[in-house]
Amino acid sequence: MTDIVEEIRRRWRCPKCGTGDPYINEHSFTGSGLSRLLNWQAYTYIAVTCRHCGYTEFYNKEILTGKKDTLMQILDLLFGR
Ligand SMILES: [Zn+2]
Repeated sequence: MTDIVEEIRRRWRCPKCGTGDPYINEHSFTGSGLSRLLNWQAYTYIAVTCRHCGYTEFYNKEILTGKKDTLMQILDLLFGR
């Protein structure tokens, strides 16, 4: 199985300054209020921060990992080859 975080680390390039040296962190946000009442799934986001300029992007891990078959295509789309 492809490790999505590892793939992002390998491919990511900052759209602001062009540096390919990201700091990657995973954040889980549990739902509050109505979503907690309905027991909705907590979402996990992958935060990719550029070590050079601090620019940060968030990716929804559920969506990325839920599309395993096309994951590589999505990554190609996001980061190029
Ligand atoms: Zn940057």
